[in-house]
Amino acid sequence: MVNNCINIMLDALFPSHCPLCLTPSSDVLCPGCMDDLPINRHCCRRCAMPITDPHSALCGHCLQAPPIIDCSRIPFRYADPIDQMIGQYKFSANLANGRILSQLWLGHQQTPVELPELLIPIPLHPERLCRRGFNQALELARPLGRHFGIAVNHKSCERVLNTPPQAGLKRQQRKQNLRGSFRLKQRLKVEHVALVDDVVTTGSTVFELARLLKKSGIRRVDVWALARTP
Ligand SMILES: [Zn+2]
Ligand SMILES: [Zn+2]
Repeated sequence: MVNNCINIMLDALFPSHCPLCLTPSSDVLCPGCMDDLPINRHCCRRCAMPITDPHSALCGHCLQAPPIIDCSRIPFRYADPIDQMIGQYKFSANLANGRILSQLWLGHQQTPVELPELLIPIPLHPERLCRRGFNQALELARPLGRHFGIAVNHKSCERVLNTPPQAGLKRQQRKQNLRGSFRLKQRLKVEHVALVDDVVTTGSTVFELARLLKKSGIRRVDVWALARTP
C-alpha cells in the first residue's frame, strides 16, 4: 500500500521515470535496469529450468523422465528485481507492477513457431481469488493473448481444492498436495494449448493441470510463464 502511494505520487511528479531506480526514462525501464534483468537465456526447452551448458536442449530431469508438458517459454529467472515485482503485484495488489511485468514479458517473449490455439491461465481457488481480488495469471495472460492473437480461456478449468501454499514443500509432497486440485468444466475442442502462470517453481501445478487436459484429449500442452525458479 505504501509502495502504491509512493508510485502514484512519483507518477504525478515525474511522469517519465524508471520505476526501479527513478532515473528519467520514457521506456518501461531505463537501459541500465533493463540490462540487469535476470534473463532465462540458457534453459531447458521442455521445462525452462536454467542450464549451464548452452549446447544442451534439455535439463537432466527432462532427459531422465520427460514431464507431461511439451515445451516451456519462460523469459526470466525468478530473481531480483522480477521476484520483488511479482511479490508486490500479487500480495500488495501493486497493479502498476502488473502492467510493467506484462510489458517486460511481451518485450522478451519470442514468437513460437507453432502458436497454441488457447491460453489457459492457472485458475485460483475461489477463496483465494476472493481474498486477492484478481487472478494474476489471468491478468498477465490477457495482454499476451492480444499480442499474439490467441483467445484466453479462463472458464473451462477450475480449482476445486484450496491447497496450502507450496513454498517449503519437497517436490514429491507438492505433487501429492496438488492431486485432484483442478477440474475441467467443459471439454475443449482444440489440440494445442499453453498454460499461463506468473512463476513456475517445481512445475507441480502446471503438470497437474496438463495431466488433466491431456487426459481429456488435448495433444500438446505448453507452459508460458513470466519467471522460473532455478
Ligand atoms: Zn532504472
Ligand atoms: Zn527440463
